[in-house]
Amino acid sequence: MVAQIPFNTSKSQQIFSQAKNLMPGGVSSPVRAFKSVGGEPIVFDRVEGAYAWDVDGNRYIDYVGTWGPAIVGHAHPEVIEALHKALEKGTSFGAPCVLENQLAEMVIDAVPSIEMVRFVNSGTEACMSVLRLMRAFTGRDKIIKFEGCYHGHADMFLVQAGSGVATLGLPDSPGVPKSTTANTLTAPYNDLAAVQALFDANKDQISGIIIEPVVGNAGCILPKPGFLAGLQSIAKANGALLVFDEVMTGFRLAYGGAQERFGITPDLTCLGKIIGGGLPVGAYGGRREIMEMVAPAGPMYQAGTLSGNPLAMTAGIKTLEILRRDGTYAQLDAATKKLADGMLSIAHEAGHAATGNQIGAMFGMFFTAQQVYSFEDAKTSDLNKFSRFHRGMLEHGVYLAPSQYEAGFTSLAHGDAEIAATLEAVRAVLSQIS
Ligand SMILES: *Cc1c(COP(=O)(O)O)cnc(C)c1O
Repeated sequence: MVAQIPFNTSKSQQIFSQAKNLMPGGVSSPVRAFKSVGGEPIVFDRVEGAYAWDVDGNRYIDYVGTWGPAIVGHAHPEVIEALHKALEKGTSFGAPCVLENQLAEMVIDAVPSIEMVRFVNSGTEACMSVLRLMRAFTGRDKIIKFEGCYHGHADMFLVQAGSGVATLGLPDSPGVPKSTTANTLTAPYNDLAAVQALFDANKDQISGIIIEPVVGNAGCILPKPGFLAGLQSIAKANGALLVFDEVMTGFRLAYGGAQERFGITPDLTCLGKIIGGGLPVGAYGGRREIMEMVAPAGPMYQAGTLSGNPLAMTAGIKTLEILRRDGTYAQLDAATKKLADGMLSIAHEAGHAATGNQIGAMFGMFFTAQQVYSFEDAKTSDLNKFSRFHRGMLEHGVYLAPSQYEAGFTSLAHGDAEIAATLEAVRAVLSQIS
């Protein structure tokens, strides 16, 4: 990979400066604005395979993958072709459509905990709906979430919510009433004793535990052996539900998500990102007796004008069809391991304090000497160094998530050539920064 020097982003800068007058911060979602790494964001023009091109014509190997959905590679020809066909029949029906049955069947077959599923339009919607369902089913109001885990931007979850919020230095968000988060209890990730203590102090009041089974919104953080199983037994002993928010990990760590990979079947699961194949889709599902509480089968109200629309269903179906082919997850695992191990050893050779985590098609490197098991650990990272690393990688044609507190994502389109070029860029950049 040839460094893109001189690195010209004048069109991006011009478009972004106009955007700042039109939209708050110039973006439609905060982390995109590059606030935590400094400098100006890159304005994309098009994406294909493992690559993104900006409006100035620079090409990047992309490890954001539109924040997860692009696991088969951007603009996969089979997905695009299926979308073209679906488009001719119209974009939204607001009525039942057979494609919903098809995607539902695929999700139910794939994800161990899901016997019935409801489609929504985003991961945020999936999580806020699942929270209502947890409360409706148990008749209890409190929930436990973990520091650094993100479950979308619904009020009740904006406590210790990881990347987007942490990056902006907002401990909580103004506009979220204290009364709304009063029922949201938090524990450090990987700390079973803290969870047990919360149950002891709130007997018969906790509806359930919601967790990212592998954290992707505080960097990439893995559960310690026994942690997820421990949560399951504590929840069970207290008549509470265990909910896996697999919006990021679903169809990424394995075809059946983290629950397949770790062999733990939660009561309910949230999905998003990959199941929309790049179009807006979220979903929640779980045991039949719980899901039958959802309207119109049951009394818990939840609805959506564009939910289950044929375009989004089509992109999801085709993406899952590609993913369930032989060898896809072994390929993702091998490529991602090569990348993550390579980055870490280059960092160490260049004398940097760094640790990393990787599982399946998800990875992260922290500029800290200590192993990262929680958001507290992640916060020991050298953010200033990360900013310089991020900018250097950009200039060398590699697009990483613009925050230390985000996981990196690979896709089936990230082959040997892309991994090798990325490691070459890592070597060049890390030898230049101190
Ligand atoms: C991205 C994400 C969400 C929110 O999904 P949106 O589609 O952005 O609303 C929720 N939970 C997790 C774990 C996520 O990674």
